[in-house]
Amino acid sequence: MKNYEKVKSLKDRIKLLRSNTIQKILKSNPKKIDHPISFWIKEDRLRNEKGKEFTIILRTRGCSWALGDNGGCSMCGYLQDSYMNKVEDKYIIQQFDYAFQKKIEEISNSKENFSIKLYNSGSFLDDDEISEEARYKIFKKIAEVPNITEIVIESRVEYIEEFKIKQLTRILKEKYLEIAIGLESTDDYIRNNYINKGLVFQDFINSIKLLKSCNVGIRVYLLLKPPFLNEQAAIDDCIKSINELIDLKVNTISINPVNIQKDSLVEYLWRQNRYRPPWFYSLFKVLREILKTHSNLNSIRLISDPSGAGTKRGIHNCLKKECNNLMINVLKDFVLNQDAKLILDKENYSQCDCLIKYRLQKDHILI
Ligand code: SF4
Ligand SMILES: [Zn+2]
Repeated sequence: MKNYEKVKSLKDRIKLLRSNTIQKILKSNPKKIDHPISFWIKEDRLRNEKGKEFTIILRTRGCSWALGDNGGCSMCGYLQDSYMNKVEDKYIIQQFDYAFQKKIEEISNSKENFSIKLYNSGSFLDDDEISEEARYKIFKKIAEVPNITEIVIESRVEYIEEFKIKQLTRILKEKYLEIAIGLESTDDYIRNNYINKGLVFQDFINSIKLLKSCNVGIRVYLLLKPPFLNEQAAIDDCIKSINELIDLKVNTISINPVNIQKDSLVEYLWRQNRYRPPWFYSLFKVLREILKTHSNLNSIRLISDPSGAGTKRGIHNCLKKECNNLMINVLKDFVLNQDAKLILDKENYSQCDCLIKYRLQKDHILI
């Protein structure tokens, strides 16, 4: 019997998988800490227009929730990219500078506006990952670039504190700051029992009140199809969550369909045929239902940029390229233009034979 089979609770399973990952990473070759994990520029939906995003993924020690006693979230494999030990300020700043120097000319010469997304596979506001001084120095550099108009960082709610937010907004002056929070679902049971997020809805509400009082935008990530839900239950949970977030007047809702990340609990279930990533049909069903009832989202951005789309590990229909590509392209167009017609008109996307299989099986866990 494998060790995984001996443990009982979901949290125990996650912790065991996680500790194996940590051991593996600590034994492997040390990772470069003077270069970021990755960075890129691509088209993006800005608040009121199409523009570009400049994304930088910084390498830090790793998410404290995943490294701590709770083992992290069931779908998350971000520790793969983490350093595990403290990354000193000078290296965090070198990572940022490396990406910034490579792209600053392209950004400054562009006629379009940019959003900069600073991600670190954890929490930007967690001092154990990125110190106050490093945050300050990075934001100072961003503040000097006129056509970077939006800044997005992500954080668990426990690190969102008024003094940190005020420090950042003071540096940015007129620029728009948006803090992304991985809420995943507005349902406490799903979030904590199936995702192991360690976050209650009331704490999320307290954080968004604080962010609103500081005049800072709120981006919320929702997870489409957490483990242990079938497609229909996943659709229902996502629609309910979006409706509640619209009522709370957040600024951006980002739907993240699960992708199978290495050494996560979801990967463990997937390997045993106990989990399948969501179908594209489900994501479009969610979008259609929302856009039918809210043709005008009152300036809320509704976005989705799925990782691994069209592959076995990502959101997909059948594995035919043309079936997935149709969905990928319409989704991209919708996100950039926020034009509900693209989603509401079913003629726009795949009506492949696999739709029959999907309809027959969407109420079962294994499809
Ligand atoms: S999803 Fe976010 S909070 Fe959860 S373990 Fe991964 S990085 Fe940490
Ligand atoms: Zn198909």
